[in-house]
Amino acid sequence: MSAFLAIGECMVELSEAGDGLYRRGFAGDTFNTAWYMRRMLPESWGVGYATCVGEDAISHEMLAYMEGERIDTSAVRRLPDATVGLYMISIEDGERSFSYWRGQSAAKRMGQDLKWLDAALKGRDMIHFSAITLAILPPKEREYFCGALARARARGAIVAFDTNLRPKLWESPEAMRAGLMMGARTSDIVLPSFDEEQVLFGDEDPEQSLERYRTQGADLVAVKQGPGDLLLWQRDSGARVIPATKVETVVDTTAAGDSFAAGLLAGLARGKTLEDSARGAMALAGQVIQGRGALVAEAVSKAGLEP
Ligand code: ADP
Repeated sequence: MSAFLAIGECMVELSEAGDGLYRRGFAGDTFNTAWYMRRMLPESWGVGYATCVGEDAISHEMLAYMEGERIDTSAVRRLPDATVGLYMISIEDGERSFSYWRGQSAAKRMGQDLKWLDAALKGRDMIHFSAITLAILPPKEREYFCGALARARARGAIVAFDTNLRPKLWESPEAMRAGLMMGARTSDIVLPSFDEEQVLFGDEDPEQSLERYRTQGADLVAVKQGPGDLLLWQRDSGARVIPATKVETVVDTTAAGDSFAAGLLAGLARGKTLEDSARGAMALAGQVIQGRGALVAEAVSKAGLEP
């Protein structure tokens, strides 16, 4: 039995359902990746999610939902005085906008208990986290968190990092840049998006983004470019470009990057070549953006990626 673990923050999602009614769901970048992984990996792989939640009703509902999706929650830490974060999707003139309530979120305390963190990461073959996982922690605890990841990596886990930028979650652009580099130094696989790298670092081309993460020590870097080609690099085999998957009608790009990460990691976990894994990732993300919301159940079969 092999084990995949994603770690970060899952939130309650409220999306407008008309007549002032809202539909409740659960989502969050690293959780979305775990959800897609579960649908692509064979049963010989366990898929787990680690985070902190409260002990209130909505925290229990969140964990019940994860278990119902066959995602193992045994590593989740429960804090009696906290709850989970929430966001609401409003639609005005066809445009989606997001409001967040995550100030009291238990997940912000993931870096406090290193014993818990080490135990949560122990025995996992592949671990996935993101820059949002880091951003929500207090600065000192980001270091503790990355230290625990480094220990897991030293024990043999493959660590993957999605550089998801959320400038509002960081104290400053400098803190965000430093956090990204710390995350990258802790990882074997780094998944940056060129448009974000352009804004934060002023990169002129995806090769510059690749160079930055390559020099932090990653073995595999995939620079995503939305509808554009993928720049893929591996330490042993060098760089190559994977042509974009054409999508005629984009419905909602939510979770494009999260599903891309899952497609790539699931391919590698299943022993596919890097190129096949990357093509699978692009096919999956290309399907996800043709559906509404983060978790698009039919995307996996449409991309031909069922186990
Ligand atoms: P992120 O969501 O992490 O910023 P991107 O927006 O670059 O990442 O998208 C991730 C992946 O989703 C891309 O590499 C691509 O495979 C797919 N994707 C995103 N937008 C499109 C699009 N308009 N057409 C086709 N594929 C897309």
